[in-house]
Amino acid sequence: MLKGKVAIITGSTRGIGKQIALKYASLGCDIVINYKSENDIDRAKVVEEEIKEFGVKTLIVKADVSSLEDCVNLCNETKKTFGKIDILVNNAGITKDNLIIRMSEEDFDRVIDINLKGSFNCLKAVTQIMMKQKYGKIINMSSVVGITGNAGQVNYCASKAGVIGMTKSLAREVGSRGINVNAIAPGFIETDMTDVLTDEQKKNILNQIPLKKMGSTEDIANIAVFLGSDYSNYITGQVISVDGGMSM
Ligand code: NAP
Repeated sequence: MLKGKVAIITGSTRGIGKQIALKYASLGCDIVINYKSENDIDRAKVVEEEIKEFGVKTLIVKADVSSLEDCVNLCNETKKTFGKIDILVNNAGITKDNLIIRMSEEDFDRVIDINLKGSFNCLKAVTQIMMKQKYGKIINMSSVVGITGNAGQVNYCASKAGVIGMTKSLAREVGSRGINVNAIAPGFIETDMTDVLTDEQKKNILNQIPLKKMGSTEDIANIAVFLGSDYSNYITGQVISVDGGMSM
């Protein structure tokens, strides 16, 4: 399904990004592993070791997605090494939750800088290359709460709703150039990001999920495979919810 393709996955040192990287590699895709800062290089190398088991090529690139310069470098290095970029998965993201009366301006700005502007930075950098290729699959990671909203997450929900707006706008801009742009809206997925929730919070969330369980990183990787492959050639500007029915 992805044999011979080249994919950049931002924030691929752990969680959903790592799982997508492994899944893509298992299907024959060459992988660009992205990590944020020098402290994370060891984790990037662990992911690379796991990926090499599948016999595909890898490239590790340091890039803080909140820096446009880093994102341009990430895309240029990929193009230089592999000659093309077939798939970009804009996955890197953070939370800094608080009720609005306690949320600092700094925490609002940081979440927007990484989740929303970080996605923009990668989209801007990759679009130039994909337009010349006349081919590309872009997958932006939104969230169920970007659709529904969530108390204590005005910064995060604003960033993830923004990602949806950006997905639809870019899909309209570049559709005629053979580029598909879609978003995934995961529900509550078992990763470090949700590990910080209390048992009480998890119980409340489970009550809102018709399938009565949290999702796995594999659940998200599976839909990322579909959207990264040519099986989704006639799908663009869509937001695919993978949330156990939470947002319906
Ligand atoms: P995670 O386990 O916290 O992993 C986040 C990844 O993003 C890490 O690899 C992290 O690198 C990287 N990252 C953070 N800031 C970065 C930056 N400035 N530049 C480059 N990389 C950066 O999170 P996750 O649960 O896998 O979430 C992945 C994506 O799915 C996020 O966009 C998140 O908002 C979204 N999502 C998750 C859930 C969920 O329930 N887990 C639900 C909806 C949406 P470091 O290791 O260096 O920090």
